[in-house]
Amino acid sequence: MSKIVHRSLRGTLPFAVSAQGVHITDHEGKQYIDASGGAAVSCLGHQHPDVLAAMHAQIDTVAYAHTSFFTTQVAEDLADTLVANAPAGIGHVYLVSGGSEAIEAALKMARQYFVETGEPDRSVFIARRQSYHGNTLGALAVGGNEWRRKQFAPILIDVGRVSPCYAYRDQLATETPEQYSERLAQELEATIAEIGAKRVIAFVAETVVGATLGAVPPTPGYFKRVREICDRHGILLIADEVMCGMGRTGTLHAVEQEGIAPDLMAIAKGLGGGYQPIGAVLASTKIVDAFRKGSGLFQHGHTYIGHPVAAAAALAVQKVIARDKLLDQVKARGAYFEKKLRATFGNHPNVGDIRGRGLFWGVELVEDRATKKPFDAALKLHAKVKAAAMQAGLMCYPMGGTIDGERGDHVLLAPPFIISEAALDQVVERLATAIESGTRALKHAA
Ligand code: PMP
Repeated sequence: MSKIVHRSLRGTLPFAVSAQGVHITDHEGKQYIDASGGAAVSCLGHQHPDVLAAMHAQIDTVAYAHTSFFTTQVAEDLADTLVANAPAGIGHVYLVSGGSEAIEAALKMARQYFVETGEPDRSVFIARRQSYHGNTLGALAVGGNEWRRKQFAPILIDVGRVSPCYAYRDQLATETPEQYSERLAQELEATIAEIGAKRVIAFVAETVVGATLGAVPPTPGYFKRVREICDRHGILLIADEVMCGMGRTGTLHAVEQEGIAPDLMAIAKGLGGGYQPIGAVLASTKIVDAFRKGSGLFQHGHTYIGHPVAAAAALAVQKVIARDKLLDQVKARGAYFEKKLRATFGNHPNVGDIRGRGLFWGVELVEDRATKKPFDAALKLHAKVKAAAMQAGLMCYPMGGTIDGERGDHVLLAPPFIISEAALDQVVERLATAIESGTRALKHAA
């Protein structure tokens, strides 16, 4: 019996014994195509020689130095690179060990900003339903995934809540995408008014919704209006790009495609490509300047912030992406992947929607395509699809288990940027097999 507290304490997991490129091999020699990059992490695939070499070199130089005593060249270089490529106004980087830590730090930075600038009454965050921002208490509080929140709700801070931007289910037949964006903007405006504009710290949103909805991009104009509303009320905008950022959607940051710049942005996953646990908050100069002029510190910290080996891995990942022009490859392979997904599942009776950007795609599974009726969540179709996919040698990321009943199960796909067209063909083929056997299992159970 495993002594590790795994996600599931029932059943067993295969052992990963080797990995290379887009493949992981288990203890029985079975090979899996990694079509989800784990959880949208492995942007360069596995065992990339440049990243391994950079990590080895850093281990041989300074493997660890606590940031209350030292900075390191590698962490400074990473911060310089991130700032140089960041949206307008971003001037600083706070390095942490993952996505939830990045969100926690962003929430605290936002709060401290208003304390430092003489608006201590701002104490409320607004976030969206059906979102995911991490599993630590602050991140879980702003997250809107009811299944994840339910048993912890009594110990979470109160958060103002608005609808997600989810055109497939929520845009009315009588509305254009732009009108839908506007309706959501009005909802945000009304929620701010209800809470009191001077009490709101920040609006928090994933630029492209990841795990909870499955690669759902915003409708045109949505984030422009959000930005405008936040500015008008002096509210900060926190973009959660932990999953959709760092090249996944074809631009380094997904917000670039929305034509806006957030005040704070959380990144992780693709930042280190899975080679090391690392995340970061990209912070606007305005916020860090306020700290500098005020208390002179950001009142936060972890033992492993700015870890040199993690910074070395992330810096190497960023260098490979730039050198090998992988953002162009994400766009080109993404277009190919979309075409294959639409050709294979466009008329599938149990596929309601195919959406995404770059190499970040979601396939929403429904019982009835015409009415968009989801499968009963209790049937756990996503778990059946995941099991069938693993059987077929495919790592994908099916999610479901909603307790709010407002969406179907979906499969999230986020293959490494280096994936070939031939491998994408295999991904789609194996996914078709997995969806067939997952839905067949439900029909037999019915
Ligand atoms: N935000 C988003 C959008 C995420 O997708 C995730 C992870 N799935 C997190 C935050 C939390 O990141 P981590 O699991 O690294 O703590």
